[in-house]
Amino acid sequence: MEQQILTILYLASSLTFIVGLKMLSSPATARRGNWLAAAGMTAAILGTIFLYRGSDGAHLGNYGWIFTGLLLGTLVGTYTARTVKMTAMPEMVSLFNGMGGACAALISIVEFGHLHHQPGGLYANPLQLLIILLGLIIGAVSFAGSMVAWGKLNGKVKDFSFPGQHILNNGAILLALAGAVYLIHGHPADPSLVFHTVLALSLLYGIFFVLPIGGADMPVVISLLNSFTGVAAACGGFLYHNKVMLTGGILVGAAGTLLTILMCRAMNRSLLNVLIGSFGGGAATGGATSAAGGTYKEINISDVATVMAYANKVMIVPGYGLAVAQAQHACHELEKALEARGVDVKYAIHPVAGRMPGHMNVLLAESDVAYDKLLEMEQANEEFRTTDVVLVLGANDVVNPAAKNDPASPIYGMPILEVEEAKTVIVNKRSMKPGYAGIENQLFFQPKTSMLFGDAKKALQELLAEIRNV
Ligand code: NDP
Repeated sequence: MEQQILTILYLASSLTFIVGLKMLSSPATARRGNWLAAAGMTAAILGTIFLYRGSDGAHLGNYGWIFTGLLLGTLVGTYTARTVKMTAMPEMVSLFNGMGGACAALISIVEFGHLHHQPGGLYANPLQLLIILLGLIIGAVSFAGSMVAWGKLNGKVKDFSFPGQHILNNGAILLALAGAVYLIHGHPADPSLVFHTVLALSLLYGIFFVLPIGGADMPVVISLLNSFTGVAAACGGFLYHNKVMLTGGILVGAAGTLLTILMCRAMNRSLLNVLIGSFGGGAATGGATSAAGGTYKEINISDVATVMAYANKVMIVPGYGLAVAQAQHACHELEKALEARGVDVKYAIHPVAGRMPGHMNVLLAESDVAYDKLLEMEQANEEFRTTDVVLVLGANDVVNPAAKNDPASPIYGMPILEVEEAKTVIVNKRSMKPGYAGIENQLFFQPKTSMLFGDAKKALQELLAEIRNV
């Protein structure tokens, strides 16, 4: 009876993962989707703790250890998620993802020990040994890579490469795979030594694979590592014949892979180019002042207020600077003030604006901007021609025409928001410094563009006060 209840519980949990994941694809349902999947995960964990019986027919036991771990994990996770700044979100995802990879590798280490001491030893079940090794390699790469990515994003680890690095990298992973094959087919005298060498080589590969990758590409790498963790967790599900773990792992693996592909597409770069290039690394480590690209004109708050208050249609283009300034609420207030004057206000959202997929959608949802006001890139590009004023708020790379016009530019080919099609463009940022890709933006020097310098939140608050007086 207990086992039937557990099977039904696992099935229900798997369903919550699938439906929850589907709900994450719209900002309107994302929060509920997250809760639903979390509830499913809680049910699966509690079911495993209280209903699962091992091959000896006994429950898991060890409740003191299990609940202490659960309590600590819940406290640390809740505190971190509640206090993390939106701009540090990729960093947190990376750290949590690394923990998932470490868990998968630890499962493999524990199960290797169990298999070793089983009657018949390691070679009684070669398929199980294969799955253990796969989980070990993928989990260890994901753990080590995610830790390096975390260090790079919080500035503690710098980009690092040396001649012949790719040879060392590829050598390490090939040796790890060769070690795994040897362990399965070669029946070595000391299997533990081979097993731990495979682990060490996988960790080495994880470190050196992520170290040289440029700062701007880190979210793509994190998404890729996330898919690795999913596959490693699925290996655990396979080992324990645990269907909910298998489903969860496969979903994470597939979602991470799709997200990686979508991010690469949005930047018009191949995954290989991301993995061997060093795009954006320079800007991530400080950001040099841009070279003079011509003359630009400045505009003051009261002129911006007049231009916007008398426009028919205004398009706001949010970018990373909006997140830094935490200006989303002020932005929503501006939208409401303009709409009260009969101005049609919409937002143009670039798929890689900010520092993580959906960054701008999450920020604007936080300040209750209506979802139907957010236009995706293709839709926005059709509307710029009929827009009177575009207000670029802390965005840079995603509106850089070099992506269309300059084949020598590192962002050439990346689809951008074609804001220069509008009648007037106002760009708010603090200086003439480049964005994350570290390159100059010719948009700032075009005749129809005016620069409004200052912190986005402060500028919006002043603008709001002016517009109320116009
Ligand atoms: P950018 O990083 O290109 O530019 C942001 C701009 O915001 C800067 O030029 C900065 O200029 C300005 N800024 C910073 N702080 C403030 C502030 N307080 N007030 C006003 N402005 C401010 O951002 P985009 O969103 O245009 O582009 C995102 C970049 O990140 C792209 O290169 C993209 O490829 C990359 N990326 C994004 C991913 C994603 O998933 N979203 C994933 C991988 C990469 P100043 O210092 O002068 O103020």
